[in-house]
Amino acid sequence: MLKKVQDTQISELEEKLLIRRQLNDITNRIHAAQNIKQILVDLKDGILTCFNAYSVTIYIVDQARNEIYSMFLVGSRLQEIRVPINNKSIAGYVANTGKAVNISDAYNLDELKQIDKDLSFDVSWDKRSGFKTTQVLAEPIFYSSTLKGIIQIINKKGDKDFTEEEQGYLKEISGVLGIALFNQERFTRRRKTRFDFLVSRDLLKEEQLERAWEEAREQKETMEAFLMKKYNVSKDDIGKSFEEFYRCNFVAFNDKFVIPGDLLKNLKKDYLRRELWVPLEKVDGKIHIIVDDPNNILKRDMIENLLKTKSVKYDVAFPDDIIKFINFFYQSPEEETSITDILGKLETDDRTDFDDEDVDAVTESDSAIMQLVNKIINDAIARRASDIHVEPNVGKKNVEVRYRIDGDCALYQTVPYSYRAAVVSRIKIMSNLDITVRRIPQDGKIKFKRPGGDEIELRVATIPTQGGVEDVVMRILAKGETLPLEAMAMSKRNYTELLGVLSKPYGMILCVGPTGSGKTTTLHAALHHINTPDRKIWTAEDPVEITQYGLRQVQVQPKIGFDFAAAMRAFLRADPDVIMVGEMRDFETAKTGVEASLTGHLVFSTLHTNSAPETIVRLLDMGIDPLNFADALLAILAQRLVRTLCKCKEVYHPTMDEFDEIAESYGKDQFEKLNISYNNDLKLYRPKGCDICDRSGYKGRMGLHELVVGTDEIKRLVQRHATVEEMRDVAMEQGMTTLLQDGIMKCFNGSTDFKQVRRVCIK
Ligand SMILES: [Zn+2]
Repeated sequence: MLKKVQDTQISELEEKLLIRRQLNDITNRIHAAQNIKQILVDLKDGILTCFNAYSVTIYIVDQARNEIYSMFLVGSRLQEIRVPINNKSIAGYVANTGKAVNISDAYNLDELKQIDKDLSFDVSWDKRSGFKTTQVLAEPIFYSSTLKGIIQIINKKGDKDFTEEEQGYLKEISGVLGIALFNQERFTRRRKTRFDFLVSRDLLKEEQLERAWEEAREQKETMEAFLMKKYNVSKDDIGKSFEEFYRCNFVAFNDKFVIPGDLLKNLKKDYLRRELWVPLEKVDGKIHIIVDDPNNILKRDMIENLLKTKSVKYDVAFPDDIIKFINFFYQSPEEETSITDILGKLETDDRTDFDDEDVDAVTESDSAIMQLVNKIINDAIARRASDIHVEPNVGKKNVEVRYRIDGDCALYQTVPYSYRAAVVSRIKIMSNLDITVRRIPQDGKIKFKRPGGDEIELRVATIPTQGGVEDVVMRILAKGETLPLEAMAMSKRNYTELLGVLSKPYGMILCVGPTGSGKTTTLHAALHHINTPDRKIWTAEDPVEITQYGLRQVQVQPKIGFDFAAAMRAFLRADPDVIMVGEMRDFETAKTGVEASLTGHLVFSTLHTNSAPETIVRLLDMGIDPLNFADALLAILAQRLVRTLCKCKEVYHPTMDEFDEIAESYGKDQFEKLNISYNNDLKLYRPKGCDICDRSGYKGRMGLHELVVGTDEIKRLVQRHATVEEMRDVAMEQGMTTLLQDGIMKCFNGSTDFKQVRRVCIK
């Protein structure tokens, strides 16, 4: 009997020792906590074990808002809860009265009423969490009679009430927490504010800073704006102060940032403005974000969840500047910050309220208009644009200026509608067009001197459009360089075959494709290959886009009757070896070309046809003699340009479906001969986007080719005016790859992707 009593006493003693040890452990951890988050979040497990309970929450008093708040983890995500300090909730009551509570059942209204007649239990939390609160033990946290927070423990395991003893333990813990919370506060206070650098550099007195907090609030200004205004502190100095405090970079607003369209895609403007952060760019795989307070872990947590990545670099910026960035990125109409400096100059004239008659009030001789047009042209050249589209709209809609770069049009900028007449007139003057003629199309040229000194030619076309305005399209005839044939990205077979035909003394070589498919560049590369002093080479071009030393190049002028056919007749009287004629667009030119190649000359030309086999049929349909043409034909090269992947491209493993689609497009039978099978090592490439490629993932273009060689069998088909299909089949048997097939091979070697190939090859 005695033994049993002793045993019970011993086990009780052991239990008390255990709890004592646990309490000690908790105390140590509270004292070791580095910050508030560690106190609020990381201590929980130890406390739950000690009390044998399900849930614990430590709240901190936020005096300014008369609330208590806490943080907790949902998954890996930190969330904040806030409770008003009043008797409407248990935690609020404890904070409000400073009294501890020990409740058996939170849903028992009678029990709550006995504590305070107003006390109720806020069931909304239970509803959200699916957790049913029963026992509640809560204790205020004081430090020398100032309330610092409360600690609340919920639901004792085994559905028992919390004991008085446990209430004592909680009081002990809350005592330690009081000291810790006080120390944190003091530490935070001593650890200074983001403006301390200003004080330490004597740019601001400590008392001034102390007062500024309140004064700024009273005047409803941000601290930054207030300090700059009242104490003449510079933005740079505040920036330095922020950098020191937050240990990151300070970013001031400027409009040179590229709009990070891809990063903003799923973010709402109003949300960003409210939360005061915005992504600027992606650098080395990290999203660069500016935020008003980089130390705010809750905000960072929220941002990282939204962007679904932890690869984020935070820098600090003024709230005002963050708003400016957001407005700029979303092109908010209230702030036209994205318009260039020049437009800024124009706008200073207070011409915001134009009537339609006033559109002409700005004249084309206005120096700002001249600057504006020059800048539009210079920027286009710098961005390697091929065309500039100036598109005025009716009414008060702005003029849009778009550039075509690598084959695609994109908006470059908008110009206020009040300058549309002046801008168009200015371009017409530069191209020697009649500015009084507005109802019929005109075309002209601009010889444009670049700041560097070189001269660029632009072909200008004006076209009257709906609403009595005029569109202007300028084609930039960039002084192209002659590229060597090796740089044409031809397949081995195409390159070898082409070299073969270029070594022939006479015959016809045609390069075909739509406008802008790089035909001229390829022809010049071919001419370059045979451009030796022992050959006389005449070219007739419209316009002369590429100049090459050694060639005698002629610009045709159809307006005065000097067209391609006339040029060719002239060449034939001028002892040529090689003739290049820009385009065979009519029977006369084609016939002269065929005759020239049959009389011992090598003739080069282009046609606007889609494929190599189709070209033959087109020429025969034009009326060219099949026997003569069969004799003359050396080769026909069809060409397209595709955008090439920037070096930031990503390797990926295609799905079976994607692979099948590609194989199908190539032609199942022929694809099998390539020995490319679907396996785990199969790789394709896709665009990613970086600084170099303006985040498009593409940079530059390359040619796709389809080469028909004038073999005996092809010549026989020409003679009997065979169909396109017959010629294609024979050509393919002889090794020709179609444009699409060539493109697909260039996807597998990582030069481009199937999307781009399909775009130019499939109609
Ligand atoms: Zn790139």
